[in-house]
Amino acid sequence: MKLTVVGTGYVGLVSGTSFAELGNDVICVDKIPEKVDRLNNGEIPIYEPGLKELVDSNRAAGRLQFTTELQPAVQASDVVVIAVGTPESETGAANMSYVYGVADEIGEAVNDDKFRVVVNKSTVPVGTADRVRSLIADKNPDAQVEVCSVPEFLREGSAVKDTFNPDRVIIGTNSDKAAGILTELHQPLTDNIVVTDPRSSEMIKYASNAFLATKISFVNEVANICDYYGADINAVTRGMGMDNRIGPKFLNAGIGYGGSCFPKDVKAIKHLAEVKGYYPQLLQAVNDVNEKQSLRMVDHLNVIFNEDIRNITVALLGLAFKPNTDDMREAPSLKIIRSLQEYGVKVRAFDPVAEDNAKQLLEGDIYFAENALDACEGADAAMLVTEWDECLQVTPEKLKSIMNKPVMIDGRNAFEAKEFKEAGFIYHGIGRK
Ligand code: NAD
Repeated sequence: MKLTVVGTGYVGLVSGTSFAELGNDVICVDKIPEKVDRLNNGEIPIYEPGLKELVDSNRAAGRLQFTTELQPAVQASDVVVIAVGTPESETGAANMSYVYGVADEIGEAVNDDKFRVVVNKSTVPVGTADRVRSLIADKNPDAQVEVCSVPEFLREGSAVKDTFNPDRVIIGTNSDKAAGILTELHQPLTDNIVVTDPRSSEMIKYASNAFLATKISFVNEVANICDYYGADINAVTRGMGMDNRIGPKFLNAGIGYGGSCFPKDVKAIKHLAEVKGYYPQLLQAVNDVNEKQSLRMVDHLNVIFNEDIRNITVALLGLAFKPNTDDMREAPSLKIIRSLQEYGVKVRAFDPVAEDNAKQLLEGDIYFAENALDACEGADAAMLVTEWDECLQVTPEKLKSIMNKPVMIDGRNAFEAKEFKEAGFIYHGIGRK
């Protein structure tokens, strides 16, 4: 098939490249010329394992192109995928200006009688497919366009793997013709294809992310209660997860969810409820627990140092919101560092790939280290913030020989508490003090 993918971010670039890998002709469009120039020069603007090899081979095979010109790309395509950002707005609602802007441009382009499927892959409020359809019709009332919802479920850090091994593909459309085309497009990826109406499809995406966020906030709340009673959350979740109705996945206590999806999507579905006069009590609580969770790290620091942390030096191991990504959007490290700075703590930080993105979001005097050990040199405490392999490789013995004080606050419960304690460390995890 001939495809246009609009937006070359984490979703657009990965899914466009993957569709090319499946043998389709794909034109990826982005409005940022520098981004398109970099892609045309073989550079990948984001960090995503396995992506460069795939982009290189599909460009070389002539199946993948990058351009800033949306209209000719759309005119040449059977399927147009919208994969632009839907960031949080001030009210908590999704900011739809990018999606609507693309809809207007598509409307201007589809001035012939060719049938096209427009697919919304961005995470969007319920009713967006209808709205995009009417924006296109405003520009071209005779356009032969079916607007569908195919939400994206890839995870940053394993986006390529997820795209080729999806748990399911959801196709939201009321048109049999569009359902047939989109089923054919996605069939090579999975047999688990669910065809439903666009509104249900749009809700599936928000409900899935909100449910995962709920699991995280739930387990973090239990971990915080464990802290008061000397129970170990890792033992608790191991025992809980053996119940088939609960399952072991996504039950890790830590410093809360971050990234460009869960925080904004929980707020957006909450907003969808509120504008209809329904108070989403549970979603509000999920959000509230998460807002505070990253600062538990600073609470632990204060407990260990008897509330006297001014002028101490703290090493942060990892900055990205999770390993294997350079994405710093809503990363818990940002809140932790800002809070430490308010207390007058000196910050040393290490991240293998997110340093440049972090520098754009942080202010003040921060030492960005070459590696995890360099970050910990002379520090009074270390905090594990992102469980990168490079951060997990540090040993308590080595750390003890270079740190000023042997203090480890493990925000991901990823280290063996016993090893650190036996090496003479004060070790605090989340819910396993
Ligand atoms: P992103 O911010 O990384 O990329 C968006 C891209 O769209 C940018 O490169 C931007 O320049 C481009 N763009 C904006 N307006 C444009 C226009 N008019 N024409 C051409 N290009 C335009 O965003 P992302 O992380 O890829 O997310 C995209 C959507 O997918 C969001 O709705 C997000 O919620 C959803 N999503 C993201 C993930 C994820 O892990 N990042 C996973 C699933 C779903």
